[in-house]
Amino acid sequence: MKKLTVTQFAEKRIKAGIDVLDSRDFPQLPVEDSWVELLDGQGSFLAMAYFSQQHKGCGWVVSRRQDELNQAYFERLFRKAWDRRSAFHRDKSTTAYRIFNQDGDGLGGLTIDFYDGYVVFSWYNTFIYGLKDLLLAAFQTALPEITGAYEKIRFRQGTSESNYLYGKEAPAFFTILENGIRYQVFLNEGLMTGIFLDQHEVRRDLAQGLAIGKKVLNMFSYTAAFSVAAAVGGAKETTSVDLAKRSRQLSEAHFLANDLDLADHRLVVMDVFDYFRYAKRKGLTYDVIILDPPSFARNKKETFAVAKDYHKLVAASLEILAPQGLLVTSTNAANLSLEKFKTEIEKGFGQVPHRYEQTYRLPKDFAINKKDESSNYLKVFTIRTGL
Ligand code: SAH
Repeated sequence: MKKLTVTQFAEKRIKAGIDVLDSRDFPQLPVEDSWVELLDGQGSFLAMAYFSQQHKGCGWVVSRRQDELNQAYFERLFRKAWDRRSAFHRDKSTTAYRIFNQDGDGLGGLTIDFYDGYVVFSWYNTFIYGLKDLLLAAFQTALPEITGAYEKIRFRQGTSESNYLYGKEAPAFFTILENGIRYQVFLNEGLMTGIFLDQHEVRRDLAQGLAIGKKVLNMFSYTAAFSVAAAVGGAKETTSVDLAKRSRQLSEAHFLANDLDLADHRLVVMDVFDYFRYAKRKGLTYDVIILDPPSFARNKKETFAVAKDYHKLVAASLEILAPQGLLVTSTNAANLSLEKFKTEIEKGFGQVPHRYEQTYRLPKDFAINKKDESSNYLKVFTIRTGL
């Protein structure tokens, strides 16, 4: 196996428990797509790792022991990850959650989500994808009870980014439960599945008190999952805004699956900035506004990047937020720290009085690497205006 002596910076990071390999420490990939033994300045063993370029970093430390990374090793890893989620397996009111989360479960570059018996593998780089046969064999041995499996190939854009893998085929659309609420999912269409599982806790709180009797505006609503949670939680009305035409039909299905009357729930296919202008012109106001944009977005006129433009969403929201209103600000941008996110939000508030109520990070099923803050990418605040 190839051995590589790392820089002092890399050694420090690895010894501190960080698994993702920082591209700055390896300006050129030493060896791409293979296992490598990393050595410290003294030539002593540091870690087993692999290099493969991906959105986040240029590779991953997989073990700090001289393990043989064979099928049995990964079987143990998958079983352990499964057993860690026993509270989720027992909870019959929630049937979709993450069962393997990258470095939080000991293997960066791979996530596995569970949807009522079926699983979806997501491969984040070419090396991990190259281990597919080994990893699937290990997974099937460790967890024979899984009904069927699909994959999402997330490191290249192409036509076959979503595929069936093995077992029984899932229906094209089916419903899963989360805290007793029904959400419609689809496992083999593009990279998305109809629900973002990392928002379990925000949806739970919308369903359990935050939205009761309120007028809710859900921006970047996708399949309107937040609106459905709010509606089940007694919201007086909801408005869901998304640019994608397809979102309307998927959102309708979500409401119908929960026997909710669409008369109180508006679905708007529109750019959010246009909707802000429209709402202001019409004098519409909302008690709760949810902001959950993609990290980068582009429409015909402009581009939007969370790291520098979030404040515009906050400022625009304040113009149509009722007194004592609640803003729910969310981002999944890993490159934006909690503090920087807060700074962006503060810029949007300016002098308007407000207080932070709740902070949400990744839920328990999205196991993080506790030594690496950046692995806890989700940041959500609920913020109340007024004194
Ligand atoms: N909040 C959603 C997930 C949002 S995903 C949930 O909880 O399920 C991001 C969504 O933003 C996508 O559906 C995309 O179509 C939408 N989007 C991107 N740019 C937009 C814009 N300028 N205006 C409205 N929607 C936009």
